[in-house]
Amino acid sequence: MEYDRFFSAALARLQDERRYRVFAELERVAGRFPYARWHASGGPREVVIWCSNDYLGMGQHPKVVGAMVEAATRMGAGAGGTRNISGTNQPLVTLERELADLHGKDAALVFTSGYVSNATGIATIAGLLPDCLILSDALNHNSMIEGVKRAGCDKQIWRHNDLAHLEQLLRAADPVRPKLIVFESVYSMDGDVAPIGAICDLAARYGAMTYLDEVHAVGMYGPRGGGIADRDGVMHRVDVIEGTLAKAFGCMGGYITGSAALIDAVRSYAPGFIFTTALPPAICAAATASIRHLKESRHERDRQQDRAARTKAVLAAAGLPVIATPTHIVPVIVGDPEKCRAASDLLLS
Ligand code: PLP
Repeated sequence: MEYDRFFSAALARLQDERRYRVFAELERVAGRFPYARWHASGGPREVVIWCSNDYLGMGQHPKVVGAMVEAATRMGAGAGGTRNISGTNQPLVTLERELADLHGKDAALVFTSGYVSNATGIATIAGLLPDCLILSDALNHNSMIEGVKRAGCDKQIWRHNDLAHLEQLLRAADPVRPKLIVFESVYSMDGDVAPIGAICDLAARYGAMTYLDEVHAVGMYGPRGGGIADRDGVMHRVDVIEGTLAKAFGCMGGYITGSAALIDAVRSYAPGFIFTTALPPAICAAATASIRHLKESRHERDRQQDRAARTKAVLAAAGLPVIATPTHIVPVIVGDPEKCRAASDLLLS
């Protein structure tokens, strides 16, 4: 059988739907954020990356790069194994303490990405709760949907950020049944924010646990960069706070934070934690340097808010359809390339 024809047919479907993607081959230039060299077919060219998750440029911060180089020089490139075998390196333990402190929780557990933390974290937590009912926001990220699917228990989807709908579902559920509410703080496609405190009120009223993804908020909100829950003074009310080291912290990896018992249980049961190589010491050291810096310094957070506001204003003035948001996310329906170029020139001037 010619198996390749199935793959070619699948690709043709994407082309027909105009959803086939071509990646830009970029070489970021350390020290010149957000500039990069684009290795285009006609030869390399300097470009500006207007769409980045290295939100604060921490991936190029001297403290972060320095910590990474120092740790790699001292401890080598790899982790040496899974956490159960030989991968629990000391910088990883330090990183987990830093994260637990960031979110005011007993403990933290680091995974190889934010995606893995959600996929294996939600599945394991819900799987350990007998006959758990998961209540998931309609706009949750794919990694959370994957976690919900893998949990294999009943799920209900509540309309995005709709507290009345969430309450309706909670009220209809058996009061003694374990329930897990999963949601995000900043939704990265629309740039809106969840009413975390009000969701915690409902969770308390109906005896549910809360699992919050702060991937697009950690480092950027709150007095120490703990996220929107930190900003709103409600971190202590959320049972599990999940985040990434790959966006505002500029490195790679993901994590969950919570009570000592919950974190120890996930450590002991989660396949996505147990059966994969640990994060290397150099990445852990770099992430710790980044988190420590952002706990102390609000300069990057203030500057980012200022830049985001200016970007929104310039794009709107250029006649581009910018969607208003209360966050750093600037969703734009890309239109006229000339208008985009003019706005880009103005922003860089
Ligand atoms: N959660 C949300 C809301 C995300 O947007 C993403 C990635 O964009 C992730 C989790 C996954 O995080 P990571 O990139 O660290 O795998």
